[in-house]
Amino acid sequence: MTDSATLPREDETSNSETCARAPVGLLAELTHRCPLQCPYCSNPVDLERANTELTTQEWQHVMRQAAELGILQIHLSGGEPTARKDLEDIVKTAAEVGLYTNLITAGVLLTKERLARLQELGLDHVQLSIQDVDAANADRIAAYKGGSDKKREVAKWVRELDMPLTINAPLHRQNIDNLPAIIDYSVEVGAGRLEVAHIQYYAWALKNRAALMPTREAFMKTVEIVNEAKERLKGILVFDFVVPDYYAKYPKPCMGGWGRGIMNVTPSGRVLPCHAAESLPGLEFENVRDRPLADIWLKGQAFEMFRGTEWMKEPCRSCSRKEIDFGGCRCQAYALTGDAANTDPACSLSPLHQDWAQVAKEESHKPSPEFVYRRMGKSGPAAGA
Ligand code: SF4
Ligand code: SF4
Repeated sequence: MTDSATLPREDETSNSETCARAPVGLLAELTHRCPLQCPYCSNPVDLERANTELTTQEWQHVMRQAAELGILQIHLSGGEPTARKDLEDIVKTAAEVGLYTNLITAGVLLTKERLARLQELGLDHVQLSIQDVDAANADRIAAYKGGSDKKREVAKWVRELDMPLTINAPLHRQNIDNLPAIIDYSVEVGAGRLEVAHIQYYAWALKNRAALMPTREAFMKTVEIVNEAKERLKGILVFDFVVPDYYAKYPKPCMGGWGRGIMNVTPSGRVLPCHAAESLPGLEFENVRDRPLADIWLKGQAFEMFRGTEWMKEPCRSCSRKEIDFGGCRCQAYALTGDAANTDPACSLSPLHQDWAQVAKEESHKPSPEFVYRRMGKSGPAAGA
């Protein structure tokens, strides 16, 4: 295994370096099982089944290897990570090896006793997702009844246990008008951070783009609302605001740059540079069951493919922003142009940008179609959607 002591972390190296360095974070998708069915779920459309999941010991081995590699934070995600009965064992090992542990949860399966036990074992932070503050609309979006009351209760327990809380509220056409109420809710439940992320259109969200795409006018209003709230709530609530690519001038540095700061391990142990990377052809995704995590990070074909800037085509190749946004999202570039090495059409310098923005304009003004819900095996509209 590579000696992690020789690997500087991302914050210790300049952007221009294309060599691998220790990632800051690892997203551990412990399972794809989830009682909710959000139509924008970032999990792949082909969800991994429970019988393929890594065992407790295998996840514990991942935690130890992550710490050796120099990773600082583990994001325990899913699906719904609390669907795993051995979450306690995984958290305990992660804490023992010195990782900062963040539980990303929809909350509906938690009890206060379990949360307290997880805290005792070393859980550092809870990130609770909500679908809306309007309970009926939240039920409809998640195709799950009664989630809102339970989530409010979970938020209360987190604060009673004196743990830091982030509210994660994916924003889209079906809840965008409630943004002021979502901000009030976050303050009311004692969150220190609110992640208001406009939906990114991959996987399930791409199937549901027309049902989720807000109008440009509605999006611009959210910018005003967030800017005003940021000022008003200084020292109370920190905002992470992610704008929709379709209305942006330049793309985001997707994953902070391919193979630069974050890695993703799927429920069955496949190691990905980003959670949507399996949609790309020609990449080999190795498994923690077969190769050490550090080797995969440093030398894995999928990580090397788009690391740095050498792979870029024009207009990215000669662009002054190439080490700021790294050409945007490879998965989006592939989905929309057929070539993952092309400039992400979210960029206004992409020859396809205007067509792409036009799609957003048209879809956001048409009546919304029914959701295609995120389901294991089959997907489809639910009654009443
Ligand atoms: S986005 Fe919704 S369906 Fe997907 S894992 Fe989270 S709660 Fe479950
Ligand atoms: S051309 Fe490429 S590097 Fe330049 S701003 Fe657009 S996506 Fe970023």
